[in-house]
Amino acid sequence: MELKEAIAKLKENQRIRSAYYHAMGVMYYDIETAAPKNAIGGFSETMATLSEITYKLAVNEENFAVLDLLSAHADELDEITRREVEEAQKGLKLLRSIPIEEYVEFQRIQSEASSVWHEAKVKSDYPMFEPHLRKLVEYTRKFAAYAAPEQDPYDYWLNEFEEGFTQDVLDGYFEKIKAALVPLIHRIGEKQPPEDGFLKKHYPAWKQRKLSDYLMEVMGINRDDCAIGETEHPFTTGFNKHDLRITTHYYEDALASSMYSVIHEGGHATYEMGNSDELIGSPLFGGASCGMHESQSRFYENIIGRSRAFVELVFPKIKEMFPEEMEGVTAEDFYKAVNRAEPSLIRTEADELTYSMHVLIRYEIEKKLIHGELDTKDVPAEWNRLYKEYLGVDVPNDKEGCLQDSHWSGGSFGYFPSYSLGSAYGAQILAHMKKELDIDALVRAGELGKVTDWLREHIHKYGMIKKPKELIRLCCGEDFDPQYYIDYLTDKFSELYGL
Ligand code: ZN
Repeated sequence: MELKEAIAKLKENQRIRSAYYHAMGVMYYDIETAAPKNAIGGFSETMATLSEITYKLAVNEENFAVLDLLSAHADELDEITRREVEEAQKGLKLLRSIPIEEYVEFQRIQSEASSVWHEAKVKSDYPMFEPHLRKLVEYTRKFAAYAAPEQDPYDYWLNEFEEGFTQDVLDGYFEKIKAALVPLIHRIGEKQPPEDGFLKKHYPAWKQRKLSDYLMEVMGINRDDCAIGETEHPFTTGFNKHDLRITTHYYEDALASSMYSVIHEGGHATYEMGNSDELIGSPLFGGASCGMHESQSRFYENIIGRSRAFVELVFPKIKEMFPEEMEGVTAEDFYKAVNRAEPSLIRTEADELTYSMHVLIRYEIEKKLIHGELDTKDVPAEWNRLYKEYLGVDVPNDKEGCLQDSHWSGGSFGYFPSYSLGSAYGAQILAHMKKELDIDALVRAGELGKVTDWLREHIHKYGMIKKPKELIRLCCGEDFDPQYYIDYLTDKFSELYGL
């Protein structure tokens, strides 16, 4: 096969798979938002068939030959094609190294574990889930040994999710933020928390929908390119830069919940809408990594959305929409309320200051599990001990403890750190953006478009062309440095709580 022919085959394979993924993505969005309850049976059947087709399109000797040939001639490829080959090889590394029957067995264990977890969570019954978790940990270790026998198994999985961030980097990272944030969290815990009762009054969903429209407009999101739906858990999905879907959940007794979900998911969508046109139809469409994606959503949600300038911008509209509920409330009261920091049990509801402690706890537990230093039977005890030590909270049951997140039940280990890294990337990006833009002035003037333009130029346009470490270096002119995150949180919360 000639190089030219191999490139054509690669692009053709990508074109077909991208069409399948598009169809599957729309089906997934539909089942989550609009389809009737009993559609699930037909949906699962069709998805299984389509997954089998896409699996075969990737895992076959001809595709391996194409990719191996292109890898051998990587220097002769343009940057996009070279990265497409690299990502495809990375994705296939595991599949090519494990015996097919073990792969099938793992799929079975995974889907069983997932359904048991749902029930175990509802019943708060960890012993019911434990044997499944044990098997998943065994497979996680075994698969890492197949794919990268020379590498530490947890490092293998960490690198799968956030390339370049193995334990030697993350141990240092978490050590640093732990040393700085745990004492800060304890000092804030001694202060009187700001009043936030007004956020818990009655806010009808129909009015909150109008607020979502307004927030998307403020963010500069083109509604012809981005739709909004309603689901139990908010998420974003995108098929190309002109077809993004975000979702939210309206709680009528919690105004800030959907408000910040919309800004968060809107941040994910803004990232993908900012991909350059050359990524249309390429598997490199999207974000550099899970952590980099989260950096953008959390940038809009927290750094912008929970800033004094943003609250001052949107508060008049909120007051106009909810005059009775906001009676006697000022923009400053609103700003303090949405930044109330309080150690809590649930990661997804955690505030900006305590969030990374939740991630750190999962990181420490995963590390021990994968290295066989913690038995799956002892997870709840270790979980509860760490919550007490770092956050000072007592965990009343496993539902609000180690059973809260779905990741482990899906066989996903090594994913959590990217949630925390996202915030840390965001703080570093902010520090560099500040050298060129007066962000507060722009936000106060409603010119968020200028902030987005900057992010588009430095981050969004690249999609997956650059890897996370490379992108930080390119954007900030230096390597990843967690000190920015520590300084950002220390400054913001010291001022807020008068420390
Ligand atoms: Zn997110």
